Amino acid sequence: MVNRSGLRADPLAWVAAELEELRARDLERAPIHHAGAPGPEVVVDGRSLVHLCSNNYLGLASDPRVIEAAAEAARRFGAGAGASRLVSGGTTLHRALEERLAALKGTEDCMLFSSGYMANAGTIPALAGPEDEILSDVLNHASVVDGCRLARAPVRVYRHADATHLEDLLARSGARRRLVVTDTVFSMDGDLAPLAAIVEACERHGAMLMLDEAHATGVLGPGGAGAFAEAGLAPVRTIVMGTLSKALGAAGGFVCGPRDLVALLRNRARTYVFDTAPPAPAIGAALAALDVAAREPERAARARSAARRLAAGLHALGASVPDPAACIVPLVLGEPRRALDVAAALLDAGVLAPAIRPPSVPEGTSRIRATTMAMHTEEHLERALNAFEGALR
Ligand SMILES: *Cc1c(COP(=O)(O)O)cnc(C)c1O
Repeated sequence: MVNRSGLRADPLAWVAAELEELRARDLERAPIHHAGAPGPEVVVDGRSLVHLCSNNYLGLASDPRVIEAAAEAARRFGAGAGASRLVSGGTTLHRALEERLAALKGTEDCMLFSSGYMANAGTIPALAGPEDEILSDVLNHASVVDGCRLARAPVRVYRHADATHLEDLLARSGARRRLVVTDTVFSMDGDLAPLAAIVEACERHGAMLMLDEAHATGVLGPGGAGAFAEAGLAPVRTIVMGTLSKALGAAGGFVCGPRDLVALLRNRARTYVFDTAPPAPAIGAALAALDVAAREPERAARARSAARRLAAGLHALGASVPDPAACIVPLVLGEPRRALDVAAALLDAGVLAPAIRPPSVPEGTSRIRATTMAMHTEEHLERALNAFEGALR
């Protein structure tokens, strides 16, 4: 196409306009780059900052034993997997991790994906289709939302953590199969789904239940088994998804469940079938991380108590923050501009905790989402709270 001035029209001209619109609405985001491992402090532009936004809750991403396991796995199995699992990408290490995760979660079997996002994006469409119905908490993670979209199933969104609303929707559903899906620890609010009531509702209505334990695995429950285990519930016919990339400090996703279900998912989950297997170093790291997490339960305890300490300190500053169920402390501020201003003031004071804005959270609930780690000392938390005190003034 040639325009009036004789120049070819730029087919990407709309991009600059959209970026400009994002900027005007205070919604543009861009990555920052720090110079090291995700520890309790990070160096950005030569400044050491208290790191208050990593999901490396237990500090395992930089644990020497985990790093050595990753290196050993790379030497023995290679840097990359070379193929999908159904072709030749799997190793005995992959299978060992699957068995280990199934044992941790108390399910018959487990399968790995290259990320938690892939696990949700592949599993949900394999469980429900256009003749079925998915019931999803309004605050579920974006990867759950995208899994629902890919399923092309009708989606009924229930009010946050509202088992009564879920029950109403289940009672009214005439679909062939019903799939209820919820985060256990919610990623942006840090609270817990009412798991016992949800399990009951699913049992009463014969609905499938899928749990996203991304922020609970390694952090809650005996041996880091998750929120479901912490609640004393047994995942007999439940589908339990999680990630290796948060508390376990590695990378990859997984789905645990009954043996036949996992066997079917290995054939139907497109993000498993058509995706190269996760690389051995991540798998070796995750196996070592599970060992450390089991042997040193004080890590999870410390990370959780740091979250409670931070929430209590914010409360004392007059902020309204919920009691954290795990290691996530949300400070809801409202409009994006306000969250950006607070994040900038925190950064000035030496604290890294960016503004979380739509589409990561609903409109009007932009926030600072603080996360704590086992290695955060009282001094780190005091520095952080002093920074919040100045930033919120
Ligand atoms: C981070 C996250 C995921 C995705 O896991 P990745 O391994 O990072 O892809 C899925 N669900 C929830 C609730 C998450 O917070």
